[in-house]
Amino acid sequence: MADIIFDGIGKRYPDGFAAIANLDLHIRDGEFLVLVGPSGCGKSTALRMIAGLEEITDGRLIIDGVIANNLAPRDRDIAMVFQSYALYPHLNVEENIGFGLRVRGAEKKALAEKVRQTAELLELSEHLKRKPGQLSGGQRQRVAMGRALVRDPKAFLMDEPLSNLDARLRGQMRTEIARLQKLTGVTTVYVTHDQVEAMTMGDRVAVMRHGVLQQLDTPRALYDTPANLFVAGFIGAPSMNFMAADLVKTEGGIDARVGPFEFLFEADDLAARPGLNRSAGDRVILGIRPEMFTPVDNPDSAVNTVTGEVIFVEDLGSTLLAHVDIGSADGSLREIGDDGEDDGALSAPRLRVVLDGQTRVKAGETITLAVDAGHIHVFNAQTEGAIR
Ligand code: ATP
Repeated sequence: MADIIFDGIGKRYPDGFAAIANLDLHIRDGEFLVLVGPSGCGKSTALRMIAGLEEITDGRLIIDGVIANNLAPRDRDIAMVFQSYALYPHLNVEENIGFGLRVRGAEKKALAEKVRQTAELLELSEHLKRKPGQLSGGQRQRVAMGRALVRDPKAFLMDEPLSNLDARLRGQMRTEIARLQKLTGVTTVYVTHDQVEAMTMGDRVAVMRHGVLQQLDTPRALYDTPANLFVAGFIGAPSMNFMAADLVKTEGGIDARVGPFEFLFEADDLAARPGLNRSAGDRVILGIRPEMFTPVDNPDSAVNTVTGEVIFVEDLGSTLLAHVDIGSADGSLREIGDDGEDDGALSAPRLRVVLDGQTRVKAGETITLAVDAGHIHVFNAQTEGAIR
């Protein structure tokens, strides 16, 4: 097992495109680290660097204390599981799992024992004589993992290994891979564009965008305290609502004004986030997660509320997802897109609001929603960094 350190790593392709810029990332020995980000953010490039499949143009890659920039892939003792499982169709499960060890000249008895143990761990013992064509997608996936596991590698690399599976199997395998990783304790780096995979599987998650690491944190910390607008919008489903607001100092504290609505940050909120005081007078972006709203029956007595018209309701059984239009008549509310981009002052903001499945609400109704000031994220409109 090993830790893996990206020390000021950069990758520039021959055409001059910088796929990764100045990446500092310490993957700890034994941890399950997920690299997540939208298509093209550089996550596969980073993973391929660890495997030795991608030339590094800047910085140092240190694997298990050794500078590995120029180490040949076969000398790194690292196993990679790809999107396509790349099993040998003419070999059975046993032979597929043992293949890597056999070509390395492992002794027959030791090989058989190792394959047996690995198959047991992966719950494949009953299928050892089957060919890949006789297996389900999930079983094939496990064989592919078995081929990597059997080698006792220093680290496991996985590049979107579940993307070919249906939703149900993907859910199962998420749990399965995370469980196996805990069992074996092998340092694992897992690449995905799916934030649900990232959140459910990773001990820590590195969020990347345009080749730049945005935040490295536990799933919980990413959700609770996103470092910037991009991470805030990327992590969490349905995604966070964003609204442009003006911060105004008042007697009661700091007021965030969004068109006709006001959210007050009082003394205890300001003590927790002193940066809000420093931003008084600024135009900022507020972020509120869809699940943080509470409908209120008596709007007059409630504070920190928005009122709008329910446009439509998606009934998901245990929850409802209501789309609520809070656009003011004067158009002073600005729509901020899911990606955190300010789309201009054109359309009325529509909030995504997650409500309890038992809530009675219909399209066309007016609804008032309260939100605790502690659950309102505030971002600098220029730098897009969280104000804390
Ligand atoms: P995806 O989820 O779509 O696989 P990714 O985050 O894994 O995306 P990478 O495959 O790491 O992205 O690619 C990062 C960036 O580098 C992309 O913008 C891609 O277009 C670019 N890139 C990849 N290979 C080359 C190349 N040979 N020459 C120039 N640019 C490249």
